[in-house]
Amino acid sequence: MNLLSSIWNYKCPRCRKEDFFVSPFNLQKPLKMHEKCSHCEQVFEQKSAYYYGAMMISYIWIVCACLAIAGFCMLVLDWSVEGSFLLILIVSALSYFFILRISRSMYVHMDIKYEKELGLKPE
Ligand SMILES: [Zn+2]
Repeated sequence: MNLLSSIWNYKCPRCRKEDFFVSPFNLQKPLKMHEKCSHCEQVFEQKSAYYYGAMMISYIWIVCACLAIAGFCMLVLDWSVEGSFLLILIVSALSYFFILRISRSMYVHMDIKYEKELGLKPE
């Protein structure tokens, strides 16, 4: 599994075999993770401040998306500021959990190094 596929599918960053988040998705605990990977024993539950970096990634995602939507609506479609803002609110609400989870997945993949031999080990 390559890096982008591992991030997109929320896999363990170290072995890219097991899921990072607990499934099925729980609306009340959208960021609930396994304590550690069952395949490579990588610990996922870190100190509380560890995932602050993921917040910065989600902030960058949201700012870029808002600017792109506003620019497209106002410059290309010639929408009003209010209409563009309403669309941004709708898109933000619909993508909220996705942005949270993909940002955390990106962050752990940046921080934890992939070990290819662990990913090749039979389950
Ligand atoms: Zn693992």
